[in-house]
Amino acid sequence: MSILIALGANLASPDFGFPRETLIAAGVRLGMLGVDTLALSRWYRSPAWPPSEQPDYVNAVIRVATEAKPLALLELLQRVEEEFGRVRTVRNAARVLDLDLIAYNQEVIRTADDRLILPHPRMRERPFVLLPLRDVAPAWRHPVTGEPVQALLDGLELAGTVPLEAGPE
Ligand code: AMP
Repeated sequence: MSILIALGANLASPDFGFPRETLIAAGVRLGMLGVDTLALSRWYRSPAWPPSEQPDYVNAVIRVATEAKPLALLELLQRVEEEFGRVRTVRNAARVLDLDLIAYNQEVIRTADDRLILPHPRMRERPFVLLPLRDVAPAWRHPVTGEPVQALLDGLELAGTVPLEAGPE
């Protein structure tokens, strides 16, 4: 059973401080809303994509337990993003907090309005999702293709995504 959420931030937030602190606070907030963290990956730093002048991202993945069904869980994630001050502007804009539902067990979902696609459609090409995912679910396989997470990683350039060193960020 693997319900996997990717966390990312690349701006300090006035209320929560450095990106890593924001991500920890978001995990705590999710716990209050009935989404319990079972495992937390290492922290990674990755360049903003597409390449730009934006600060690097801090990324992690959590494996969670929750009673919430997939769409309800997505709504919870969006609610927490909003609580943390994310203003939706243009796609890929710098953000205080980004929460993506990566996978919900083996479920394969595509709502008519694309509001929820599972597994997350862009996870395959994102080392900043796959590296932390491997930390918390090393035996995970893509529900559609059956590929193990390691096989997905083998095809990618990983150099830009590195574990974060100890420090305040
Ligand atoms: P973004 O702003 O890049 O985080 O994209 C968010 C949009 O993707 C929202 O409109 C979501 O409804 C939609 N979406 C579709 N599938 C997912 C998913 N698995 N996790 C998060 N957002 C999703």
